[in-house]
Amino acid sequence: MEMSIISLDKEYVAGTYGRFPLELVSGKGSRLKAADGKEYIDLGSGIGVTAFGFGDDAWVKAVTEQASMLQHTSNLYYTEPCAKLAKLLCEKTGMKKVFFSNSGAESNECAIKVARKYSAQKKGADCYTIVTLVNSFHGRTLTTLAATGQDHFHKDFQPLTPGFIHVPANDCAALAKAVAENKVAGIMLECVQGEGGVNPLTREFVLEAAKIANEQDIPLMIDEVQTGNGRTGEFYAYMHFGTQPDIVSTAKGLGGGLPIGATLMGEKVQSVLQPGDHGSTYGGNPVCCAGALSVLERLDEAFLNDVKCKSEYVFKALEGAEGVQSVSGLGLMIGIKTTKPAKEVVTACMEKGVLCLTAKDKVRLLPALNIPMEDLKKAVDVIKAVCKEGI
Ligand SMILES: *Cc1c(COP(=O)(O)O)cnc(C)c1O
Repeated sequence: MEMSIISLDKEYVAGTYGRFPLELVSGKGSRLKAADGKEYIDLGSGIGVTAFGFGDDAWVKAVTEQASMLQHTSNLYYTEPCAKLAKLLCEKTGMKKVFFSNSGAESNECAIKVARKYSAQKKGADCYTIVTLVNSFHGRTLTTLAATGQDHFHKDFQPLTPGFIHVPANDCAALAKAVAENKVAGIMLECVQGEGGVNPLTREFVLEAAKIANEQDIPLMIDEVQTGNGRTGEFYAYMHFGTQPDIVSTAKGLGGGLPIGATLMGEKVQSVLQPGDHGSTYGGNPVCCAGALSVLERLDEAFLNDVKCKSEYVFKALEGAEGVQSVSGLGLMIGIKTTKPAKEVVTACMEKGVLCLTAKDKVRLLPALNIPMEDLKKAVDVIKAVCKEGI
């Protein structure tokens, strides 16, 4: 007898994920179809990746046209999508150079290499410590795990890359102390801690970090892997705070569903990477870049305003609802502290045809940025009903 897909996966795929018992086969917009024919409204976007939903016409056209023309070249040659995407990213941010990779962790690896080389050249080889925040998440490689300020990820994988220290989020004094007592090569922040529970940093803290970084010639590194590319209602989340970082790393929503990471370098660090310093075989892959171009070209002011309006709708609908203790986040990156355990809420929502995520002890929503209002309303009504049921 042929094994079911779920059994096959359990048998042969490494057991690193706690998957939901759901096999998905197709999608259109913010609707997903399962193998049993059941339809779901999706509020997860494959963890903030499918920015324009599933099977988006413009994205599919861009990707398939590029795939049929030329799917890969390596970085030994020039291609149009890569160059154009780098230009667009710089124009939208005021940054000067872009390094392309394939994931969020890799975009942070590059950011760390740039900060370390800049600081080593300016201040000496012993200036290598990167300050990040407690409860942060920066990736799963051994170096980005070291950057991640959550001990439970570190256990069993020692020794991690040395030279990372973590200070509590929104604690200006702790940050100042860490910078005073260490030879700091970079300060790395998520403007909204995503995996850490959808917690936005305070304006005061972000501005203080930017001030310290600027005064002491320390690269300010913003991890926009989850918050970037329109997710929070600005092109990048740092733009809410009116700061200009030196290094920005991004991935997730950038490619609209294909693996791509980018590390953006500002004026101060633009010349740090020289031939041979870094590389990636797939980096800047023309198909991924064509997909990313079709995403970024549409993130104009009107579109971002629409993201903000949808965000406001969700906050208003859920704040103060029965069984909802608090709502946090920015734009369409939303965390809901529920009276019931978050896992229970997510499972019950799934049974009622709505897919949500969790982050720590919260229900997390990362819907497609263009989710139809009608789907969003239906899904929020389901969440509200589930939160109040039986409490
Ligand atoms: C998801 C995430 C990463 C890691 O991205 P991968 O593509 O899984 O390597 C890094 N930083 C933040 C803030 C993230 O949300």
